Amino acid sequence: MAENIAKLSFWGVRGSTPSADRTTWRYGGNTPCLELITPDQGRLILDCGTGLRMLGNSWAAEAEQTGRSIEADVLVTHYHWDHIQGIPFFAPLYSPRNAFRFHSFRSEFVGPESLKRAFEAQMAHPYFPVNLSAMSAHREFTELAGGDSFNAGDTRITARWLNHPQGCLGFRFETPAGVIAYATDNEPGVPEFDQALIELADGADIFINDAQYTPEQLESRKGWGHSSWLASIRTAKAARVRHLVLFHHDPDSSDSAVDRILRDARGQFENVWIAAEGMVMSLGTKQVDIDFCTQRHLGSEPSLPVRVTGQTQDGKTFDEHTMIHDMGMRSATIDLAHAPKLQSALQVVMETPAGETEKRRALRCYVVRLEPKPDNNEVSVGVVFVE
Ligand SMILES: [Zn+2]
Ligand SMILES: [Zn+2]
Repeated sequence: MAENIAKLSFWGVRGSTPSADRTTWRYGGNTPCLELITPDQGRLILDCGTGLRMLGNSWAAEAEQTGRSIEADVLVTHYHWDHIQGIPFFAPLYSPRNAFRFHSFRSEFVGPESLKRAFEAQMAHPYFPVNLSAMSAHREFTELAGGDSFNAGDTRITARWLNHPQGCLGFRFETPAGVIAYATDNEPGVPEFDQALIELADGADIFINDAQYTPEQLESRKGWGHSSWLASIRTAKAARVRHLVLFHHDPDSSDSAVDRILRDARGQFENVWIAAEGMVMSLGTKQVDIDFCTQRHLGSEPSLPVRVTGQTQDGKTFDEHTMIHDMGMRSATIDLAHAPKLQSALQVVMETPAGETEKRRALRCYVVRLEPKPDNNEVSVGVVFVE
C-alpha cells in the first residue's frame, strides 16, 4: 500500500538565467523545476526551467527499467525564459507512449493557447534544430486563471495571481499528506497581491517563495518582479507556515552570498531552508523530512580519520574525532556523536597518520542529511563540500 507521503524534489532553484560558474555550484545553477509526487503516486512538474532536463532523464531511465509509460500534470507559472527553457530538452516528450497535461494561463501578449504557442515559438527555426512535430508524446493544454481550482488525483490544486511583470501564477497543493504552496517570481508591496499570497500559503506545511534578493538589493530593484528573504519571512509568519523554502536565487548570488541569506533568515524564522538542487522534502501528515540526493559514491573508498568541528542543533560548539567515508567529489558521510543542524557549516580536518609530516587539509562542508544510526547513539551526517 502507498504511504501517505508527498515527495517534493528540487531540480532547479536558480532564477532568471542558469548559472554554471563554480561559485554557484553548491546550491545549483539550473532554473526552476520541481517534481511533486503526490501520496497516490501522481506526478506533477512545477515549472519547466533547465532543471527539467535532468528530471526527464531520471524519469526516462526509470521508465526504461520498469517498461511503464509516463503520465504527468505540468504546471507552468509564467512564460519567462527561466520557467520554460527546459521543455525542448525533456526526453519523455519524445516518446509516443507518454502523456502530459499542461496547465498555464492565457497571456494577453500571446492570446489563446499561450503555452502551446510558447512551445512552438521556442522550437521554431532558427532557434532549435527540430520542430514541435518531433515531440510525439500526447499533450493536452489547459488554461487556468487566478482563483481556479482543479484536482490531480488525490490533490486539490488552486491557482492565485502573483505580482510579476506580464503575470505569474502561484499554486497551492492540498495533498492528503499536507499542504505545499509554490509562489516563485513575486514582488511584494501591492496590498491585494500580498494578501492573496498570504491566502495561498495559509497554514502550509511547506511554502516555497521567491527570495531572489537581499532587502537592500530589493530597494534598488523595484519593479523587477522579485522578493527578498525578509519579505518571504514576513509572509510565512503572517500565513503561519511550518517550513519556508527560499527559492529563485539570483544568478549573481554566489554560494557564500546564499549562505549569508540563510544565516540572516535563520535569525528571524526557525524553519527556514534554502532551496538547493538535489534537495528532497518528504511531507508526511506529522513531519517534514529533508534529504539531499548527493552523488552516490562508488563504495570502495576507505574511511579516513577526521576531526570535525561545528554546532549542535541547540547552538553549542562541538569538536570530535571520527571517520569520514563515502567521499565523492562533492559529498561525503560522517558519523558523529553530536547532531548538527541541517544546512549548518562544519569544518573537517583530515588527520595525518602518526609519523607523517604532510600538511593537514581542512575542508568546509554543509550538512544536508541527518540519519540516526540504529546500532548506537551516533548520527550519520551527509555533507556537501564548499568550494
Ligand atoms: Zn523566474
Ligand atoms: Zn519571471
